[in-house]
Amino acid sequence: ANTNETTRRNEPTLVSTSPILVSATATTAEPNPRRSRSGTPDMEGSSSSSAKEEILKSVQGVDRNACEQILNEILVTDEKVYWDDIAGLRNAKNSLKEAVVYPFLRPDLFKGLREPIRGMLLFGPPGTGKTMIAKAVATESHSTFFSVSASSLLSKYLGESEKLIRALFYMAKKLSPSIIFIDEIDSMLTARSDNENESSRRIKTELLIQWSSLSNATAQSEGQNNVLDSRVLVLGATNLPWAIDDAARRRFSRRLYIPLPDYETRLYHLKRLMAKQKNNLEDLDYELITKMTDGFSGSDLTSLAKEAAMEPIRDLGDKLMFVDFDKIRGIEIKDFQNSLITIKKSVSPESLQKYEDWSTEFGSTG
Ligand code: ADP
Repeated sequence: ANTNETTRRNEPTLVSTSPILVSATATTAEPNPRRSRSGTPDMEGSSSSSAKEEILKSVQGVDRNACEQILNEILVTDEKVYWDDIAGLRNAKNSLKEAVVYPFLRPDLFKGLREPIRGMLLFGPPGTGKTMIAKAVATESHSTFFSVSASSLLSKYLGESEKLIRALFYMAKKLSPSIIFIDEIDSMLTARSDNENESSRRIKTELLIQWSSLSNATAQSEGQNNVLDSRVLVLGATNLPWAIDDAARRRFSRRLYIPLPDYETRLYHLKRLMAKQKNNLEDLDYELITKMTDGFSGSDLTSLAKEAAMEPIRDLGDKLMFVDFDKIRGIEIKDFQNSLITIKKSVSPESLQKYEDWSTEFGSTG
């Protein structure tokens, strides 16, 4: 990683406690009146509450409280993820650039037959960067990012969920271009079973209706504003793609496999993590760690590096309280070797095979 990159931003923390996270990442200068001059929906800083009020005032046809709930649980953040932050996954990145980023940035070119797709599924083992990639798409396409965990919609907001889904799509269109990221989407789109409860059936139906309304918006669109408003993509992520029923699966025009990192990707990821830490690792050490972490996910690798980074601190014992920061020793290969005793790969070879099989049958190439 070059110095520029490492100083530009911090390693993103990706575990959000907020069930609905909207990060206003837009920086485009599209002629959208609801955006500030920078293009960002103006919800940061001192103007934040008035901007929200203004948006809420113009809400029509959907539950205003639900819209407010979405805006209030919005975490407006500077946290941005860029393509370079994500190790590997070149195919997925290219595919997303073509299917989403360019069409969102140049809506005038992507109309009619070239209109952007409405749904994309990212599937694969946990911790491989699906959430990161969704955030990067939002950043790189200058879109507003709505991130919803399906399980929180189904549990925490049960009863309110349908209203929230309507409000979510409404706000996404209002603040378009937008990405609606739904994590664990399988739990909302499972094959129907007799014991499926009434409310989850209704939530699923509402999601499918709202999703269809995106395509209708384009079909009916004539004016420029409608074209802009139609730039909304549902980006689903799942570790259990086989749980999604046939009809729902077909809604995702593209289904991208996000696999475990290969050797080169792990090496890049490790070096990137270590670039910000004092260390005595040589090229050969990196190669050794990379070899020893075959089968690790990106998230396993991050955990391993964090654990290794703790070792120099542990060595200090109580002296930790008084030691100067620059006297702390650098991270060494032995720290990684020790950490490998506790941090193991989290994805089993059997489940990996299942992903490969599903990808062969239903995945999109490229
Ligand atoms: P998923 O959504 O696939 O479960 P995440 O995107 O939430 O995985 O990744 C969890 C963490 O693992 C990230 O915050 C990051 O630290 C690390 N990580 C996973 N994959 C990658 C990757 N390809 N490049 C860089 N970091 C990664």
